[in-house]
Amino acid sequence: MSQAFAADIAPAAIGLADYACLPSQSRGRRFTEPEAPTRNVFQRDRDRIVHSTAFRRLVYKTQVFLNHEGDLFRTRLTHSLEVAQLGRSLARALGLHEDLVEAIALAHDLGHTPFGHAGQDALNECMTPYGGFEHNLQSLRVVDGLEERYPQFDGLNLCFETREGILKHCSPRNAQKLEEAEPGGVGARFLQRQQPSLEAQLCNLADEMAYNAHDIDDGVRSGLISLEQLQEVVLFNAYMVKVQDEFPALTGRRLLFESIRRMLSDQVYEVMDTTRALLQEHAPSSVDDVRRSPPLVRFSPGMLAASTEMKQFLMQSLYRHPQVLQTTDWARQVVHELFDAYMQKPSAMPEQHVKRADLPRAVADYIAGMTDRFATKEHARLTGKVLIS
Ligand code: MG
Repeated sequence: MSQAFAADIAPAAIGLADYACLPSQSRGRRFTEPEAPTRNVFQRDRDRIVHSTAFRRLVYKTQVFLNHEGDLFRTRLTHSLEVAQLGRSLARALGLHEDLVEAIALAHDLGHTPFGHAGQDALNECMTPYGGFEHNLQSLRVVDGLEERYPQFDGLNLCFETREGILKHCSPRNAQKLEEAEPGGVGARFLQRQQPSLEAQLCNLADEMAYNAHDIDDGVRSGLISLEQLQEVVLFNAYMVKVQDEFPALTGRRLLFESIRRMLSDQVYEVMDTTRALLQEHAPSSVDDVRRSPPLVRFSPGMLAASTEMKQFLMQSLYRHPQVLQTTDWARQVVHELFDAYMQKPSAMPEQHVKRADLPRAVADYIAGMTDRFATKEHARLTGKVLIS
């Protein structure tokens, strides 16, 4: 369907609500491009993301467990696919634009460093004197500038709505910088204290639902948390007890999977109900109404409390498990030493990074783009040390 044709159709006729983002009403791309004959602008954004180099790198980037620790743990890529799946289910049920949700979900982690949060923290420490490092802002930098694929512009030249969704957090200082470079652009809402589109809000919550559920799965798979420990987690235990009542002989993986499946599915339905009630209460009739309303895609207070308790459990029992912390200590050292090595000898980087005017930012961009295994190899090459094996 061409854009001109799509623009003539009422949103409801194609299953979309008045508060959905419509491709025909997009605030556009930074560089004007002709429309594609058969794909809407959000589909096109999604396709550009899937074909990007940064997207392919996600397969070798850590979510929680370092890539070499096992083949079945989530990586940034499989995590992003799970977020897209949850997001699309929610979008379809709520009359929101699925293609936009998919584009945001697939791009939301493009700016992550190697080695998960340990890598991001270490790079932020290295960059503190030079403006810091933040993975959300880095995801935007990837799609706005760092991808080199098109003859006429740097980056992927995505639509405003996709970029707005990618930048889910931003400090006032960084928002101010973005605003100076692009007045009224993606930084503005942080200064005006407005919300992003419902599609973007939905991706945020889908991200949280996805990682809570899959970190339980990966945590048990790794042997660092047990089903017995999970009985302390109110939300999870409620489902496990029900599954055990129904299937008394069920143990191990199938018990775990069925409990996670039910928990995730209930969370999805509960977000739909809560969001529908909030939409009715605030009655936004356009995306701009949504931006001026409070956050509308939410858990109920009860589910929020239960989900927070589960996050605290994961923090204490998994993310701060001594075995996880040991690998994250190595990861921090790798990032710090890589940063120092390139700062001292910029020519150790490929030429396109060396010639940039802002050396610290060029080094940070180069390191942030690395996969776990490339960073490990580069570190060994430059320092002669083998920290992670
Ligand atoms: Mg994520």
